[in-house]
Amino acid sequence: MTRRTVLVINCGSSSIKFALRREGDGQAILSGLAERLGGEQATLAWKAGDQREQIQLGDGSHSAAMAALLPLIEQHADQPLSAVGHRVVHGGEHFTRAQRIDDSVISAITANAALAPLHNPANLTGIHAAMDVLPDIPHVAIFDTAFHQSMPAHAYRYALPQALYADHAIRRYGFHGTSHQYVTNQAGELTGRGTAKGAWLSAHLGNGCSSCAVLDGRSLDTSMGLTPLEGLVMGTRSGDVDPNLHAHLGRTLGWDLPRIEQLLNRESGLLGLSGLSNDMRQLEQAAEQGHEGAQLAIEVFCYRLARSLLGLGAALPRLDGLLFTGGIGENSARIRARTVEHMAILGLKIDAAANTGVGRGAAAPIHADGSTAIWVIPTDEERQIAEESLALLDQP
Ligand code: AMP
Repeated sequence: MTRRTVLVINCGSSSIKFALRREGDGQAILSGLAERLGGEQATLAWKAGDQREQIQLGDGSHSAAMAALLPLIEQHADQPLSAVGHRVVHGGEHFTRAQRIDDSVISAITANAALAPLHNPANLTGIHAAMDVLPDIPHVAIFDTAFHQSMPAHAYRYALPQALYADHAIRRYGFHGTSHQYVTNQAGELTGRGTAKGAWLSAHLGNGCSSCAVLDGRSLDTSMGLTPLEGLVMGTRSGDVDPNLHAHLGRTLGWDLPRIEQLLNRESGLLGLSGLSNDMRQLEQAAEQGHEGAQLAIEVFCYRLARSLLGLGAALPRLDGLLFTGGIGENSARIRARTVEHMAILGLKIDAAANTGVGRGAAAPIHADGSTAIWVIPTDEERQIAEESLALLDQP
């Protein structure tokens, strides 16, 4: 059987991340990044197997980047594209699953832009640019929020007046759904339960971080909320703070809302706590050398993560395993070990040798004998997007 090929697009305000994926493959045929779009220094870089290249984009528009991508796709795909899968951050309550993109889907993504003002407009720019250069191929939107639409009301409602939910869609949505879905599907397969089977706590720890409780392929609760700021400590995002902080900063320092948004989204998290960096690798090195800010940032990160995971246990009838993924979750034995130390109340215990011995890019169990399972599972959001796009097209 011929395996189909999907172009996966993740479009930001000044970048387009792309990958050409063949159905069922764990690796991209071609992947890369167009960066600094909108300026004169725009570049397009890609790799295919061992080959890496980069070109300057004379016209740094998103459309020019998409046009420059076309010959690369033709060169590397051995058949016409079957679909283009677009990552879209916020699907609001409209979208509980992937959607074939048409005018009504574009309108609904536009309508949700108030909920994700930084992301949805950029995602739409990518959709328009790709549809212009590939008009005859099905385009599919995959939403970061869709997987969490299975949360029950007691998990997604804030304790705010009903009208704010009913009239203004203010509720918890959750993000990183593609990643939590992918790793919990994998966990079901790797443990012999079957795809999407099992009761899991999943920790996606990258620049953005979130935790999620998943039962048999359904998200029951997650740490992010109305926006991707709620929940865990992240690279530059604060995660949870006292909601009265806004009023306090306004009153005592005279800060306005844009200043406070900047503080909580760009100056906080690991960067704010450490005073050094948002990058966990760098913080681990600095902590080893005695940097107190880095040590504190790591301690707060792990403690708050453990607290979130233990809290999410309330959503599950039992626990089949704890899963670590994302750049930090997949690569940092220290963060995994410290987090699990705070979770002894669940009887979780790490095997130190297994934890430090996990190969880069490999899935592996890291729990000690007698402990509930703990796994490292590399995420692959592009693969999930490619496969969901094809699954949608296969539906009658
Ligand atoms: P992501 O957004 O998933 O690419 O993850 C980025 C984060 O992963 C950054 O904080 C990196 O410092 C962190 N990271 C990547 N590799 C390692 C590593 N070997 N040890 C610790 N953190 C790492």
